[in-house]
Amino acid sequence: MGENLNKFNFLIVDDDDVIVSIVESALEEIGAKNVNSVSEGEKALEHYDASLSGAATNIILLDLNMPGMDGIEFLRHIAQREFKGDIILMSGEDKAILKSAGDLARTHNLSVAAVVEKPVTLESLKQAIHNIENKQVPADKANCPAIDITEDDLREALEKDQLVMYFQPKVDVKTKKIVSVESLVRWVHPEEGLIPPDVFIPLAEQTGMIILLTNQVIAKSIAEAGRWHEQGYDIKVGFNVSVENLETLELPEYIFGQALDADVDPKKIIVEVTESRIMADLAKTYEILTRLRLKGIELSIDDFGTGYSTMEQLERIPFTELKIDKAFVTYADKKPKSRAILESSISLAKNLGLRIVAEGVERQEEWDLVKVLGVDLVQGYYISKPLSAADLLAWLKETQ
Ligand code: C2E
Ligand code: CA
Ligand code: CA
Repeated sequence: MGENLNKFNFLIVDDDDVIVSIVESALEEIGAKNVNSVSEGEKALEHYDASLSGAATNIILLDLNMPGMDGIEFLRHIAQREFKGDIILMSGEDKAILKSAGDLARTHNLSVAAVVEKPVTLESLKQAIHNIENKQVPADKANCPAIDITEDDLREALEKDQLVMYFQPKVDVKTKKIVSVESLVRWVHPEEGLIPPDVFIPLAEQTGMIILLTNQVIAKSIAEAGRWHEQGYDIKVGFNVSVENLETLELPEYIFGQALDADVDPKKIIVEVTESRIMADLAKTYEILTRLRLKGIELSIDDFGTGYSTMEQLERIPFTELKIDKAFVTYADKKPKSRAILESSISLAKNLGLRIVAEGVERQEEWDLVKVLGVDLVQGYYISKPLSAADLLAWLKETQ
């Protein structure tokens, strides 16, 4: 460690001058060159916004308990700005608070490299930065290029048919037999290689391009399901739609049309809608979802636990499946709070008569736990990563 810490721009956010100088000198000692510090959340946001064009902050050392904007509120603001760097949480609060702040940050998709208790020591900081330097890039994000995508790039991708679908099995937890797959889009970029959806879906949503994009996703996913059925694999196909799609009244007809063309029974199709983004109050959304269901298409509530659905909303929309977000599945065997959310989501889903899917199961311990707790289906690296159409067929032949 040392010489390569130059690449990091640190921002210390703490109202306690003593702590700030301790952390500053500890960072200096381990070779950090670019260190800024502020005493309040508001000032931290100002600093962050001002430095966006220049040397962007990539490691934030954050005190949780500050007057004015506290650390938790700061996390929400920085998440809204899609902060892609790492956060080191520092606090004198008890462990449970530190841990739940860490969990909260992760549900905001923030990367928490470490949670350090005060008094902050040189050793704990070293360890935290070591974690960041040796961070494992998740396999499915490894090809994520740092490119700026424009609306024109995306339009070209759609015109040149550069989107491909990957398929991730969802298996019955009792038999390990495949029941359905989730179809996940990737962009095969001529220069950049495979680009994951998180990089371009938000832009597609902002520009309205999501309507055309989703139409391609639907057509490709259903066509592929037709091929599995032809080969004797009775597998349902699920795909993701955005809220913008749920404001497009033609969506149900489009899906039925594709099902007819590919000779796929609408009962074998699942539409996944993200919990946190669904607006059940919108008459249009409600109409579209109900019409889909009337035709036999299944409705899945995705990333459950990250939104604030009320029982009433859940009952009003005729969902058939509930997918528990991976944030509450990962290490649920070791994290009592995740486990509590997992258990209460399962009992809610059972009361509503929904099929329950646990997402993001990677470890044997997680598999065992969700099985005991009564989940129906499992999706996650423990069973399989998302696979290309050809790889899925090979996987089916080998395992099913
Ligand atoms: P999602 O719908 O929650 O999809 C699951 C994501 O979790 C996928 O990432 C999948 O590869 C990943 N995953 C599955 N199992 C595991 C596991 O065991 N561990 C870990 N760490 N990750 C796992 P992916 O394919 O990068 O997709 C990310 C998100 O992009 C999706 O989240 C979905 O919200 C969005 N997305 C993907 N395809 C489409 C699409 O066709 N249309 C729209 N609108 N959104 C899409
Ligand atoms: Ca999904
Ligand atoms: Ca999900």
